[in-house]
Amino acid sequence: MYRYLGELVTRAAASGSLASGCVDSALPASATLMRVRRYSEAVGEKDDDPNFFRMVEGFFDRGASIVEDKLVHDLKTRETPEQKRHRVRGILKIIKPCNHVLSVSFPIKRDNGEWDVIEGYRAQHSQHRTPCKGGIRYSTEVSVDEVKALASLMTYKCAVVDVPFGGAKAGVKINPKNYSDTELEKITRRFTIELAKKGFIGPGIDVPAPDMSTGEREMSWIADTYANTMGHNDINAYACVTGKPISQGGIHGRISATGRGVFHGIENFVNEAAYMSQLGLNPGFGDKTFVIQGFGNVGLHSMRYLHRNGAKCVGVGELDGSIWNPNGIDPKELEDYKLANGTIVGFPNASPYEGSILEAECHILIPAASEKQLTKKNANNIKAKIIAEGANGPTTPEADKIFLERNIMVIPDMYLNAGGVTVSYFEWLKNLNHVSYGRLTFKYERDSNYHLLMSVQESLERKFGKHGGAIPIVPTSEFQDRIAGASEKDIVHSGLAYTMERSARQIMRTANRYNLGLDLRTSAYVNAIEKVFKVYHDAGLTFT
Ligand code: NAD
Repeated sequence: MYRYLGELVTRAAASGSLASGCVDSALPASATLMRVRRYSEAVGEKDDDPNFFRMVEGFFDRGASIVEDKLVHDLKTRETPEQKRHRVRGILKIIKPCNHVLSVSFPIKRDNGEWDVIEGYRAQHSQHRTPCKGGIRYSTEVSVDEVKALASLMTYKCAVVDVPFGGAKAGVKINPKNYSDTELEKITRRFTIELAKKGFIGPGIDVPAPDMSTGEREMSWIADTYANTMGHNDINAYACVTGKPISQGGIHGRISATGRGVFHGIENFVNEAAYMSQLGLNPGFGDKTFVIQGFGNVGLHSMRYLHRNGAKCVGVGELDGSIWNPNGIDPKELEDYKLANGTIVGFPNASPYEGSILEAECHILIPAASEKQLTKKNANNIKAKIIAEGANGPTTPEADKIFLERNIMVIPDMYLNAGGVTVSYFEWLKNLNHVSYGRLTFKYERDSNYHLLMSVQESLERKFGKHGGAIPIVPTSEFQDRIAGASEKDIVHSGLAYTMERSARQIMRTANRYNLGLDLRTSAYVNAIEKVFKVYHDAGLTFT
């Protein structure tokens, strides 16, 4: 039985034990799985266009209802079972809503002398850990609900990958293509000041990052504005934002971090034989094709790493058109074409694709554009066996349910695209430490490695003599590459790979423990809720 937000859906496949190496004992499964509880009404909205915030709440509720018994069971207090349940439900209620939402409007004078009033928002979902963390997007679709939803997703995402931040998100309601660079700089700087005035930015309070239509340039303007105004007397001022260029305190590997994380996230599941056999696929990337929707930061870098590791990109979709080549599309060629032409349409080494690229034939579908792309309307037409959520919130609850019924594996956003915030965390730490990774140890490590080789050589010569000449110790090419010690990039890459692997194992273990089958989203929520719950519980609730 698979329980879906108050419904019971029978799926024989879901009862299989999947993850290898899973050791945790299960709670009495029947007690947990048979209980039916509705916390929210997000699922079941008739037109399958749920309010985004309620959609995230609905996913949270699903996870919360599964883990509630365990949370009560694990409480080490001298309360009655009833009091414990009250406590658990109370804390779950505290976790769910958005703590603070800021809405601002401010004027800018345009290059042509006209005036515009710009709207922007920042939501801080949770301060159970500080600072809050989350991107800033520029889009005409931005709304209060959207930033609240994305902020709450950030809380759970950070918890899933053990990044010690609360969730936040900002949006400025503009189409950046309609503004000149000078105008965009004015908007970004003024928005930063508005955030700073209200306590919505600062190295220990709230730390934005890039998201849709923002990047290094905007992050640099934000850092510069903060450091030269509110943060002028704060030595950590540049830690007020991440995703900065290296010259402004950024870190190597941040631009591609989300895509790299998407690759590692897929890799962890694609290499798991038990999951692949459930989907009727072979483990590994060698025989896999994939399709990407959205050729922006996340889409491009996901494509690069998957391509490098043997998977074949057969289709790419953008707002103005999609392209298709069953023999594979080269990411570098496509990137260069887009840089030169401003579009992927007309790319010479592929044909135009008519129809929805989401419904194209492939093994792995990567929505990397925006939310609510996979809905009840198209979920039954999806051909992919794996949906890898590069974007935030691309799947509606109704579509999610259909994918589970159709035995399609969805690797959820809150885990899969967490590479960005993970490397942002590394950048923030670098800024607080005021030193780049490896800076203090490069020479020491290199000297130690040479001493090690010399010591091996001397030992061998002592034992066997030097009759045939000195015994040369030749490092392998892999060791030679590492002999000088780890660079910042090496540290970021290995830290990210480790994070994605550890979290994948946690998700698999939880899916196994609660008999969730392919419902990795609920599993990830359960993990996140358990972690956030523990912080709230251990901190105490004296003020309430
Ligand atoms: P981006 O602006 O760099 O790229 C988005 C691309 O998707 C653009 O090229 C846009 O034209 C295209 N697009 C938008 N709507 C589309 C549609 N309906 N069909 C096809 N193409 C469409 O943005 P990004 O930073 O790559 O973010 C993409 C998604 O990933 C968002 O949901 C974002 O929240 C999420 N995300 C981004 C990061 C990050 O570090 N940038 C981290 C985590 C999650």
